[in-house]
Amino acid sequence: MAQSGKGKLNYRCPLCFMRDIDMDMFYDRDKKEYYCLRCQYTGDEADVLAKNEMVRMKYRRMYDRITDFEEEAK
Ligand SMILES: [Zn+2]
Repeated sequence: MAQSGKGKLNYRCPLCFMRDIDMDMFYDRDKKEYYCLRCQYTGDEADVLAKNEMVRMKYRRMYDRITDFEEEAK
């Protein structure tokens, strides 16, 4: 892991965050991937951003009352 280090942006791990754990990920410069020491998650920046978006959705939706599931399915 000689080439490893903290990524410039210090993304938190989306998988851990889904379990209410706030874990900073490390960045593998060779693979250009972020990785989490806690849960084995690895992913490039686009994947991290996509999963972060999913986490944000999850938390936003938690506060929504979903009353029309027909509408949700579209
Ligand atoms: Zn993790």
